[in-house]
Amino acid sequence: MAKIHEVKKIDNVGVEYTFMCPACGVCHSVDLDGYPKYVFNKNMDQPSFWPAIMVRTGPENNPNICHFLIDIGLIKFLSDCTHELKNKTIKLEDF
Ligand SMILES: [Zn+2]
Repeated sequence: MAKIHEVKKIDNVGVEYTFMCPACGVCHSVDLDGYPKYVFNKNMDQPSFWPAIMVRTGPENNPNICHFLIDIGLIKFLSDCTHELKNKTIKLEDF
């Protein structure tokens, strides 16, 4: 078990890193080859990514926003999240 899993991208070229979001109840993924250029410490049990990750879903004029830092196995939700875990810091769970 680990907090982060490496998965193949849909196009089968390269990998991305996925984790379970305790606020959204779904997995979010980070593509190290995308933009912005994320830095990942490659520690699957005590992961850190930099910079912050923003996930927008739903309608453009009223999106759901999940915006957070992952720092040494903790997920720190920022104040512009639209869910109830905004401003909270929670341990990432194994999945
Ligand atoms: Zn989320």
